[in-house]
Amino acid sequence: MSFELKERAETVETPFDRQERIGWWRQDVLRNARVMVIGAGALGNEVLKNLVLLGIGKILVVDFDTISVSNLSRTVLFRPEDVGKRKAAVAAERARDMALERTSTVDFLDADIVWELGLGIYRRMDLVIGCVDNDEARLSINRAARSVGKPWINGGIFELSGSITPYGREQTCYECTVTPDQVADAQSRYDSCEQVKKRYVAEERMPTVQITSALVASLQVQEAVKILHGEFVDFGVRLAYNGTTHGFHRISLPFDEGCLAHGQFEDIHQLPLSARTSTVAELLDHLEQKFGDDVKIDLAARFIRRIRCRNCGKWISFERPAHRVFDDELICADCRSGDHPTGAEALPGEGGSDYVQAVTTFSRRNFGNEPISPNISGKALWEIGIPPLHILNVTDAEQRQFACELSGDVATIFSDGWDFPPLT
Ligand SMILES: [Zn+2]
Ligand SMILES: [Zn+2]
Repeated sequence: MSFELKERAETVETPFDRQERIGWWRQDVLRNARVMVIGAGALGNEVLKNLVLLGIGKILVVDFDTISVSNLSRTVLFRPEDVGKRKAAVAAERARDMALERTSTVDFLDADIVWELGLGIYRRMDLVIGCVDNDEARLSINRAARSVGKPWINGGIFELSGSITPYGREQTCYECTVTPDQVADAQSRYDSCEQVKKRYVAEERMPTVQITSALVASLQVQEAVKILHGEFVDFGVRLAYNGTTHGFHRISLPFDEGCLAHGQFEDIHQLPLSARTSTVAELLDHLEQKFGDDVKIDLAARFIRRIRCRNCGKWISFERPAHRVFDDELICADCRSGDHPTGAEALPGEGGSDYVQAVTTFSRRNFGNEPISPNISGKALWEIGIPPLHILNVTDAEQRQFACELSGDVATIFSDGWDFPPLT
């Protein structure tokens, strides 16, 4: 008996032996796969665990949050001593430790999912797994993935129930079925007047349990494996599990012809620039060389120049993207100190522009509708709200539109293990 056991141990059994016995399974497909996991909470932890145990070769995990005590009962990768540390960094480190494939690469990005994930990151993935708990993030992932033609798999959990939906490049998308409740949820982190961020948002304490997230994450990764292999997947069909009645049901989501999320980039021009280090002036230089003078660039996010104090009406200067302005900053220093409290009636008439001066496009001459200043020209693209590896919309003098990627950021985001080809 002992001899037989030894014989078995000496065969070239790999950690993936059992899964490779599945007829259509191709471990090399998984080894070369590039998967982004957005959200490193309850679902993200389980998804990451599954991905590394399956031998997925390249994983990017994104989150913008810290580990709290209540996370610990639902997060297989986190330990009590991790409380207070950043979720993305710890999740990536633990997933790396767990990886069975020696060449596996697990990178992380500590970034705001909605505002700081450039479309060029999505473009470099084979698929995206959405492990988020709010509709603002889901709608953002949906638009981004769709715009570069990548599938993504949404997961949701509530009490003992959950659902998963794979979304493809052509079928029904998440936004096709959006309800007024979801729109309200998507806007709940923003101030309704100026659309700046609320500093304090009541944390949604969703009733849920680890077994539900483990179940939903398993189903998400199962669909991911099939997508990577090119096996049949029912895109746009939601699989819902009711843990109370112990039943599954499938819902074919309706396709909306007029859905605004269906646009896709065609040709993408690569620029050897980085959002983190290249300036506004450098971007303009490159674009003018490529597309002639008079190029106009769309900002990824509204850039706030100034907003009137809610109390006395005096202009407060911000000079940063709206998602980096908070509602509690909308009272000026004079009012806050009590020197100049004139009351809300001092505000000028209704209307957005009376209160907010914001920028959504810029050119060599203008930043919004004001002349561009040397201060703005010298800012890094990141500072005016352009995410790393983003794909910018550029319009030339003849109103032709071009998609231009800040491809220099590949090196600032991904480690060598991803093997991206050098810029040509
Ligand atoms: Zn749609
Ligand atoms: Zn004031």
